[in-house]
Amino acid sequence: MQTIFRQLNRQIRPVQVNRLLTPCIMNKPLQKHDPIIYNLIQLEEKRQKEGLELIASENFTSKAVMECLGSVLTNKYSEGLPGARYYGGNEIIDQIENLCIDRAYDAFKLEKDDWAINVQPYSGSIANMAAYVGILNPHDRIMGLDLPSGGHLTHGFYTSKKKISATSIFYESLPYYVDETGYIDYDALEKSARSFKPKVIICGYSAYPRDLDYKRFRAIANIHNSYLLCDMAHFSGLVATEEIANPFDYCDIVTTTTHKTLRGPRAGIIFCKKYLENQMNQAVFPSIQGGPHQHQIAAIATQLLEVNTPEFKTYIQQVKSNARVLAQCLFCYGYTLSTDGTDNHLLLVNLKPLGLTGSKVEKLCESINISINKNSVFGDSAALTPSGIRLGTAALTSRGFKEQDFERVANYLHQAIQLSLSIQKVSGKSLKEFSHLLEHNEEIDELKSKINEFANKFPLYDDRSLNFNSEANCDDATNSD
Ligand code: PLP
Repeated sequence: MQTIFRQLNRQIRPVQVNRLLTPCIMNKPLQKHDPIIYNLIQLEEKRQKEGLELIASENFTSKAVMECLGSVLTNKYSEGLPGARYYGGNEIIDQIENLCIDRAYDAFKLEKDDWAINVQPYSGSIANMAAYVGILNPHDRIMGLDLPSGGHLTHGFYTSKKKISATSIFYESLPYYVDETGYIDYDALEKSARSFKPKVIICGYSAYPRDLDYKRFRAIANIHNSYLLCDMAHFSGLVATEEIANPFDYCDIVTTTTHKTLRGPRAGIIFCKKYLENQMNQAVFPSIQGGPHQHQIAAIATQLLEVNTPEFKTYIQQVKSNARVLAQCLFCYGYTLSTDGTDNHLLLVNLKPLGLTGSKVEKLCESINISINKNSVFGDSAALTPSGIRLGTAALTSRGFKEQDFERVANYLHQAIQLSLSIQKVSGKSLKEFSHLLEHNEEIDELKSKINEFANKFPLYDDRSLNFNSEANCDDATNSD
């Protein structure tokens, strides 16, 4: 008997050693486990703090959202829908997903009898693809705002040489455009739609500074009984707070990302009229996706709780007011704006009259810690050398920037554009030569340190590390919007 015990002991020992080791590995903080990634995250946080974030599709989400993203919910498989899963152990997950759906109904003031909501799309592009799969067959016809006119890749983008987006590979796509004023040319859209007979017309944009005429879109869609789909990824925060026209009044399907003006995690949502519910849910899973990312869904839910507050409406009003001030100031400095202004959170500056490209100004801004992106404007033929820049106010407004702060931002942008002009005088047209001249440039270094000093006055998160499990981070965040 004793011999058997001794033999057993010998067999058990390695397992016991593992039991001791496993919790150690599982509990090791990132800083110790992987100092390289830890340090890169610290550097990125510093970059975000010291710079001026003007990319119109970005925002700073809350610690509460990030806490959901870094939670145990990431461990769980939950294919299917609440109450009808393919795996066990989803009692809590079902509550989270149902809560998220309920909060989405509240946030966008929708009736459950009228609209269905799927909160599982991993992100905006996937939400759009799933929405198309839900209503279209391969080679059906779609119409969306052309990418250089301000539309998104997933609205059917292709060039004369190549079908770029999967939405132009699997469907037959015809774009509509803005005209020389920068406004959507609805008459031309109607003419094209009459002959093209699209199955779906997509409205919504990534770089269009004005509101949309949904009534006109609906009337055009009705000509051939087309679906009307709005991709409100950029402006869903404005829709939820009733600070822009409401696409739900006219559309059959509405898609959104949740990380732009809605200020949540990177994810997507599909809303569809009730009669499309089954086909839309099927399209998300199993047609396009596998297991939903429940850590993201919890994060959307917690963000929608914030969206449903008066403070969030005040935040969005501030975003709009800041965009208007930025537009006015740039106009006063003599710059040309597409549509001469903005109704939303973004604006487009046309640099063509100055003989500058968006790429050069983007590069120079990067060297002084201002994040912007080059963007096509009306009349651009080459998508790789667009003549404009896109600016958005959602992110800096989350850091507490008000109108007078945006006057200062406009002044920094003015200095950046003027500096670009004088460097271009030396570099000529070559972007490579232009970029080369940005290095070791005293004027640039001076401007950068002024910007860093200015940005640092607006705390991003409190200064303690974003370690959500430590007690130090249990206090209320005091510096959000
Ligand atoms: N739709 C629009 C209008 C967008 O602007 C974007 C992203 O910029 C997307 C969809 C895609 O979202 P994601 O990057 O989350 O896939």
